[in-house]
Amino acid sequence: MGKDFSRGKWVALFHPPIYDFTAYDLWLRPLGLYRLGAYIKNYTDLALFLFDYMDRSSPLAPPTKSRKYGTGKFYKERVEKPRFLKEVKRYFYRFGIPRASMEAFMEKFPPPLAVFITTGMTYWYLGVKEVVRSVKKIWGNVPIFLGGTYATLMPSHASQFGKVLKGEAGCESVEVLGALSGRRFPCGDEPPAAFELSRAPSTVTATTRGCPFRCTFCASFLLHRWKKRPIWEVLEELEGAVKLSIKDIALYDDALLVDAQGHFKPLFREVVRQGWNLRFHLPNGLHVRFVDEEVAWLMKRANFKTLRLSLESVDEEFLKERTPKLRLEEFERAVFHLEKAGFSRREMVAYVIVGVPGQRASSVLKTLDYLEKIGIKPSLAYYSPVPGTKDFQVLVHEGYFPPEHDPLLHNKLLFPYSGYSPIGEEEFEKIRKRAFEIAFNLRA
Ligand code: SF4
Repeated sequence: MGKDFSRGKWVALFHPPIYDFTAYDLWLRPLGLYRLGAYIKNYTDLALFLFDYMDRSSPLAPPTKSRKYGTGKFYKERVEKPRFLKEVKRYFYRFGIPRASMEAFMEKFPPPLAVFITTGMTYWYLGVKEVVRSVKKIWGNVPIFLGGTYATLMPSHASQFGKVLKGEAGCESVEVLGALSGRRFPCGDEPPAAFELSRAPSTVTATTRGCPFRCTFCASFLLHRWKKRPIWEVLEELEGAVKLSIKDIALYDDALLVDAQGHFKPLFREVVRQGWNLRFHLPNGLHVRFVDEEVAWLMKRANFKTLRLSLESVDEEFLKERTPKLRLEEFERAVFHLEKAGFSRREMVAYVIVGVPGQRASSVLKTLDYLEKIGIKPSLAYYSPVPGTKDFQVLVHEGYFPPEHDPLLHNKLLFPYSGYSPIGEEEFEKIRKRAFEIAFNLRA
């Protein structure tokens, strides 16, 4: 710690627990808080502490099974299923460090100057509610600020828990910090993210923000304006990770390869030149349209290990109407370049979207058949209705989401019971089994 943790002299950052049917640690890290932490460290005299319920490397986290490259299972406790989700025939869990352990730890600290909570999916707000309760119980009436996805997409719902901060790249958070610390500092050039806030040997970053495409089901454009970070800034951040002996870096970019000529290529030429002992992972789907010979070659040389390709569907009509980001021949060309660069098909995974309003089971099954035929594992991405997206607006118009609806209704496992998806429970099970069987047979 080092700095002054006395009453009102420090800032508490929170990454809340998750309440859901499923959750898996595919490098789920609070990048926004790592950035906010960097601002606090670089520009203020305030001390800070990150209370990360989802950090499996924390001494407070009960041991769980770890998989490759820093991924693994979260600790979970079964909890009562909320009434809105009763139809889903699965158990409902709370994932993350147990509440009692975290509260006992929080009690060691006097009340902070302010609390910043990051938020994820809109239907994960129960975790935010729990954190706010714990904060009030232990520290009383301290100012609480909320940022992140849920807070940005549903500010009026989120405002019951604290003051909602919006703004490009967290600028509003930076302004609040300036006011709290009595300092003025710029929001623009970002100091390297404070990866040291976690002990994990893996971390996350993003070399770009947002996405210039407008798929009808995606909220990327609502969260960030499309922007490339300066290459020097990303390199500085990666160097910081290397100094902390971090080995695995997951890139959270939504559009890593857009303008590859001016961004990805010069950036990763330099990463290769540096010869850092890093492995890169792409949990978000890669834009296959932009995978050319050099991109594939750089990915191999820079040690990309997890390749998730955006396919979504082989249904040309669906692609044309819902997602302008690819055509099937572009997917095949990307696979060709990646193979030529030295990746095997068994190292690749293709995202297949399921549950988008109007999408039929036969269309999804056709996509799975195609992937089986070409020897690439499918990964199902379940549709979640996200406020502000084009598909969501249609659903609101059709009366599926009244203005005051509960965000739990956005849960990604609700579509087979929703009425807006032609894929019912039985067909969904069939799709899941088929995807599992293909992935199992093609396992590396
Ligand atoms: S290309 Fe990907 S990130 Fe961009 S809008 Fe479409 S789904 Fe979202």
